[in-house]
Amino acid sequence: MTLTAVCKQQPWVRIQPVLDAGQRVFGENRVQEAQARWAERRAGIPGLNLRLIGPLQSNKVREAVALFDAIESLDRESLAVALATEIARSGRAPELLIQVNTGDEPQKSGVSPREADAFIARCREGLGLTIAGLMCLPPADEEPAMHFALLGKIARRNGLTELSMGMSDDFETAVRHGATRVRVGSALFGGRGDRTGLHPTNEAST
Ligand SMILES: *Cc1c(COP(=O)(O)O)cnc(C)c1O
Repeated sequence: MTLTAVCKQQPWVRIQPVLDAGQRVFGENRVQEAQARWAERRAGIPGLNLRLIGPLQSNKVREAVALFDAIESLDRESLAVALATEIARSGRAPELLIQVNTGDEPQKSGVSPREADAFIARCREGLGLTIAGLMCLPPADEEPAMHFALLGKIARRNGLTELSMGMSDDFETAVRHGATRVRVGSALFGGRGDRTGLHPTNEAST
């Protein structure tokens, strides 16, 4: 089980101590923000594993393939095509996970569970992509366990081993359902956009 430290929207003063403590796997949800934070620093951090966990626009594919070691948000045919093209062009092949919209929520990206098998096959056989596993983000207002179980079921029947699931509020449940990677942000770094934790008096009292 691997911990992905989700550092999106966190100031560097919170990330540095986590890096100093030996954490090397970090998750970001925006290409531009990740570039600003890591592009210059990454050469000085051996073993760094940068993972994109947010939606990827097709026009950012080149930058994403150049920067990230893994893309966990492969969620549509056009993106799969763009990734296959860029991987062939650049010779750089980030680890790929397919995002499944286990709750079929209209506002959320990811392939529908009903279409997952066909999409996985299309990526592998049609486009020659190596797929490492699946990722999901369960609906906020539902019991996450059934969503984690569903993701595990889709992975098993497709021979996929990586299961990226579980965040600050539900990672224990995800681990019980076979998560191989949990993505933890606020429980590790503090709330996003909440800067009070940076105040010395607050830090001493918490
Ligand atoms: C922000 C985010 C996380 C981390 O969420 P926390 O609740 O802060 O742990 C995990 N996965 C994805 C896809 C995210 O966007």
